[in-house]
Amino acid sequence: VKAARYIRPASLDEALAKLAARGGEALVIAGGTDLLPEMRKTRYTGGGGGNGSQGSRTLVDIGLLEEITGVSEADGVIHVGGAATMATIAASPLLAEKAAVLVAAARTVGSPLVRNRATIGGNLATASPSADTAPALLALEAGVRLASAQGVREVPLSGFFTGYRHTELAETELITDILIPVPTQRSAGRFEKVGLRSADAISVVCVATVLEMDGARCLKARIALGAVAPVPVRALAVERALEGRDLGPGVVRECARLVHEHIAPIDDVRGSGEYRRQVAEAVVARTIMQASGTEDAD
Ligand SMILES: Cc1cc2nc3c(=O)[nH]c(=O)nc-3n(C[C@H](O)[C@H](O)[C@H](O)COP(=O)(O)OP(=O)(O)OC[C@H]3O[C@@H](n4cnc5c(N)ncnc54)[C@H](O)[C@@H]3O)c2cc1C
Repeated sequence: VKAARYIRPASLDEALAKLAARGGEALVIAGGTDLLPEMRKTRYTGGGGGNGSQGSRTLVDIGLLEEITGVSEADGVIHVGGAATMATIAASPLLAEKAAVLVAAARTVGSPLVRNRATIGGNLATASPSADTAPALLALEAGVRLASAQGVREVPLSGFFTGYRHTELAETELITDILIPVPTQRSAGRFEKVGLRSADAISVVCVATVLEMDGARCLKARIALGAVAPVPVRALAVERALEGRDLGPGVVRECARLVHEHIAPIDDVRGSGEYRRQVAEAVVARTIMQASGTEDAD
């Protein structure tokens, strides 16, 4: 791969100004773990095969901007910087205490080498159906803060993914923050990823479940899945069926069946659509039982 023009702004404002000045010609790079393999495929940086405009793209590196690499809490909202790495998220005591489902998801991304570079903003911006942090963030009812030289806007994550590998993000915008409302003390979450091997695997199915319980009664349910539809999806019918019910194994299994209303898994190299359908239902049921403390009689 031939080198593209590469700039590393010293501040967020400078990064936004560079993106604005270059319009759609500039391309954000954070960890590069999605972008570099993609560049090899399409020869974006080329000269040697891409079209003219692709050949002249400038990479704007945001990976080391301190303003957007940390994790903090203010006024009932957890802020995860758009360029926070999976390793940072996996090691955050604040997230472990208040948003453990995200920590669990980040820990399953790739290998330690990948997690040291891969960022949460890159995971969301790539918008792969199997992006592991997306279901966790959907179940946490997170939003994203998008900034450009023109200003800042906030979008709920549920409205961010607009289609297969498409998002709300404009070319001159950056994901600067992921905003997670601090869950109540009664919340508990579970994330489970099914891959073809136990490490460094892309999800065949992944599920994040966050429940708010009062004894056996489910007060609130948020369940999201990856790799079973063109975009990461919430299982709204399952959530509605759980809320207000006393949970036992029978109720959980009955509700988990409704997940089929929201998924449209495809056959691919990692598994058939039918396999994904069955695994999704089983994992949804298991994560509900674990998050609610329901004992499975079987
Ligand atoms: C070996 C390997 C294993 C992997 N395993 C997994 C896995 O298990 N689970 C998983 O979900 N993913 C996995 N991935 C994919 C990848 O690591 C993640 O999607 C990662 O989070 C991407 O982040 P990045 O910082 O590397 O993004 P980059 O490659 O730097 O960027 C990706 C895209 O996002 C844009 N972008 C990056 N940051 C921002 C931002 N803040 N604002 C706006 N746009 C931005 C870039 O312009 C580019 O289009 C794997 C990748 C590799 C190479």
